[in-house]
Amino acid sequence: MSVRTEIQNNLETRGGIISELDKECRIVRLRIPGGIITPEQLIAVGKAAKKIGIDTVHLTIRQTIEIPHVPFGKIPGLLRDLEKQEVFLGAEYEEVVNITACPGTERCRFSIIDTRNILLQLDKNHHGRNMPIRIRIAISSCPNGCTSERASEIGITGLRTPIRNEGLCTGCGTCAHTCKEKAIIMVNGRLHLDEALCVNCGMCIDSCPFHIINAGGATWCREGSLLWWIRKKRL
Ligand code: SF4
Ligand code: SF4
Ligand code: SF4
Repeated sequence: MSVRTEIQNNLETRGGIISELDKECRIVRLRIPGGIITPEQLIAVGKAAKKIGIDTVHLTIRQTIEIPHVPFGKIPGLLRDLEKQEVFLGAEYEEVVNITACPGTERCRFSIIDTRNILLQLDKNHHGRNMPIRIRIAISSCPNGCTSERASEIGITGLRTPIRNEGLCTGCGTCAHTCKEKAIIMVNGRLHLDEALCVNCGMCIDSCPFHIINAGGATWCREGSLLWWIRKKRL
């Protein structure tokens, strides 16, 4: 069996091998959850690509790397070189594809949930899993939504709900000034939270100089276009 036939029969059923304009070549997409890669792995990707004559690789919008224009005969060796540094083949078709996440509690001051921990668990248990449609999962640690999670089939957003102790409020207005959504307003001289406008970012909680706004606990909101698809198909 030729290398081409072997790849088409075996590897091409996995999404990491993708057809391209040049019928003699394939794009090799890698599995890099959240775009997190060690310097050694990054060097290994560069060296492996260079070894087979590839001058540029592509950093994708789903936080992974694609190596384009790989001739059929060079795919097995490329994958072997990458696996030595624990860089593995990704996914693309009717399966769970590279999972994206923002830095979250690792370094962002707006963060609410530990995106990296969720990311690694989801990747370990679900990456490449066969599905009826292609499933993109994106995780944002706060409602700023840097991973555009609501445009993915499954989106996870970190939320914090403000709970104000009315009796202790001095009416200083700091929280109202902090809220970019204008969800905290004055009603008859008293502060009022408009829940329809509140996006649960939790910024007002940290702003109160008297520490009287409690957080309702970090929670997740799971949304995404999959809900739209399920409704459309009436599943
Ligand atoms: S989604 Fe929020 S926590 Fe994540 S990077 Fe963006 S601003 Fe920071
Ligand atoms: S949680 Fe965010 S959106 Fe809601 S009231 Fe506080 S600052 Fe405004
Ligand atoms: S910052 Fe605190 S004390 Fe000031 S208005 Fe808001 S809840 Fe009341």
